[in-house]
Amino acid sequence: ILSSKKTYHTVLYAESAVHGPFRTKKFKVLAGKQTTATEYVEYGLHFSLDLSLAYFSARLSGERQRILSLMDDGERVVDMFAGVGPFALTLAQKASIVYAGDINPDACILMVKNIAKNRLTNVVPILSDALHLPHICPYPADRIIMNLPLQSVAFLDAAFRMARPGGMIHLYALVHREDEYLDILHKCPVEKIEHRYVRSYSPDQFHVVYDIFVGQNH
Ligand code: SAM
Repeated sequence: ILSSKKTYHTVLYAESAVHGPFRTKKFKVLAGKQTTATEYVEYGLHFSLDLSLAYFSARLSGERQRILSLMDDGERVVDMFAGVGPFALTLAQKASIVYAGDINPDACILMVKNIAKNRLTNVVPILSDALHLPHICPYPADRIIMNLPLQSVAFLDAAFRMARPGGMIHLYALVHREDEYLDILHKCPVEKIEHRYVRSYSPDQFHVVYDIFVGQNH
């Protein structure tokens, strides 16, 4: 593998599934440099990653571009589970401001590095539990990203407290059926909800995104 491409420096074996509150995996170095850190480029944005310290998946790159394409210039965005910043930095290209929170200090340190690396001045990194964000973010948000697929639903109340009437919440969830959370979501002040398949997870589970149009009278 190492000799197949000049830029490959390490071959990792994942010894565990994604686990714990920081959603990281345990890795063993099979060959090359003794590190779990690397550099990654996605649609022109440069990221420093360390896979044993903070979650990252390149498989959501298409999803990040889809959300960017839905945005108007100048939107105010909140990314509640921002990790090293891939959604936050992508959406910052159109947003006026992005508030990007994560509970993992190492993810936040990498996010700050990535903000600086890409010379962005409109991403505010926040080391915090997402439940505190409604007390921290000063303006109602036009768009909110909720990418914590096993638990996003538990943070819906915080998301609706931050969303402006007519705004949009993108909630990622791990499901057996695409309509799995629709009953719960329809109890919130929504105008409509669209859902789409994102990627497979296991033979009977997959990731879905719910695009939630927040009600005008919210
Ligand atoms: N959005 C990033 C991405 O696409 O790469 C990271 C997504 S990862 C699935 C979920 C992130 O949520 C992790 O970085 C984890 O540290 C963070 N997290 C978990 N519980 C949290 C909480 N209660 N408040 C804020 N962040 C949390």
